[in-house]
Amino acid sequence: MIAWLPRLVVALLVLVAGGTAGHWAGASVGAPMAGLCAGAVLALSAWLVADEWRVQRLMRWLHTASETEAPGRVGLWADMGYRIERELRVREQALADERERLAQFLSGIEASPNGVLLLDAEDQIAWCSRVAAEHLGLDARRDLLQPITNLVRNPDFVACVKASAGDEAVVIASPVPGTTLSVLVRRHGAGQKLVLTQDVTERHRLETMRRDFVANVSHEIRTPLTVLAGFVETMASLPLSDTERRRVLALMQEQTTRMQVLVADLLTLSQLEGSPRPTVDRWVSLDALVRRAMGDARGLSKGRHGLVAPADTHLLIAGAESELQSALGNLLSNAVRYTPEGGRIEVRWRRLGDGSGSLSVVDNGPGIAREHLPRLTERFYRVDGSRSRETGGTGLGLSIVKHVMQRHGGELQIDSEPGRGSSFTLHLPSVRLGTEQPTALSADTPA
Ligand code: ADP
Repeated sequence: MIAWLPRLVVALLVLVAGGTAGHWAGASVGAPMAGLCAGAVLALSAWLVADEWRVQRLMRWLHTASETEAPGRVGLWADMGYRIERELRVREQALADERERLAQFLSGIEASPNGVLLLDAEDQIAWCSRVAAEHLGLDARRDLLQPITNLVRNPDFVACVKASAGDEAVVIASPVPGTTLSVLVRRHGAGQKLVLTQDVTERHRLETMRRDFVANVSHEIRTPLTVLAGFVETMASLPLSDTERRRVLALMQEQTTRMQVLVADLLTLSQLEGSPRPTVDRWVSLDALVRRAMGDARGLSKGRHGLVAPADTHLLIAGAESELQSALGNLLSNAVRYTPEGGRIEVRWRRLGDGSGSLSVVDNGPGIAREHLPRLTERFYRVDGSRSRETGGTGLGLSIVKHVMQRHGGELQIDSEPGRGSSFTLHLPSVRLGTEQPTALSADTPA
């Protein structure tokens, strides 16, 4: 009401001014009253037209220009324009702040290694993070508003989306080959759903490995235990002659030894996995290592093979002596166990141009088919299970060798050809190789 008062005053002033001017002009032609009326009407009309123009200008600004200043400097419409503009700026700022927060929130979700997917009440994709799109093989833009169950047809996933009640995540094979996903679906809002995806391929692989490992260990221990139990029962229930008793006891000892070797290998593996990497300040004589391993191999071979050792290298290896001894011992024991009588087994040492070195155990035994090579270092993997067990193998030897090499910054290389023999090479990095000094720390180092 107050805002209109000045306008009323202005309108009256315009009327008065127009009337006065009209009266003055009318008087000069002898019609002062007619002049007054005409002047008042003309002045008021002009004022109204000008007013309407200001209103139109303000309306145009409202429709088009939120960036520019509101039109006019004085008057009711200018004042109104200024107030609208101020309100507009406040809201624009609030909207920009809101957008910024939303963008930060979304980029936070995008930075997560887990995927997030929002479904509307019809299970159509309302929003999809980049990771969720990767996990489920979707296109985050193209597939918007598509029903998720048309795009991801895995029955477990579909059941999970349809049920969407539990707190339990389900593990499914991702549409992306070779990937395993954990998917959790939660309801929210008015029938919307939140789908969380996580890549659990590695965890799943480790769990499978652990399960297989426990199953393998149980199997490996159960077999000799069953044999032992059979012998114990035989001895308890049957009267045996001295010769028979000795034979049964020898067989029982064989099974006991088998279990002892298995447990020893398992302990070695768990120690290798659980202890820190060997430091580079303890030096072991390579020649002493080779000498000891060759001695053990000769004992195992009992003269059935031709064993050839390399010339003295006078080199030192930085690392854990027991581990290195076990690695070389395992390779030589395998060569002796798998190479038929009369075969040749040779240990070779080579220093490479970059300062690294390689210690190889080469045999001319049966060799190994190509398809087995990548799996030989897996625990309990055997090419010929019965041959391995007959000769006292646990299936853990090469797995131990691989671990030892990894802990020493080196690697195990296997080359083999069926019918021609095998070569197992321990590659040692240059930082772990040194020249034998009379003052070397190792007990094996000649003083
Ligand atoms: P195992 O205790 O059975 O010998 P390893 O892990 O030492 O277990 O070896 C894995 C498998 O690799 C063996 O079962 C055997 O089939 C094969 N293998 C290892 N060394 C040789 C070799 N020198 N010649 C032929 N086959 C070998």
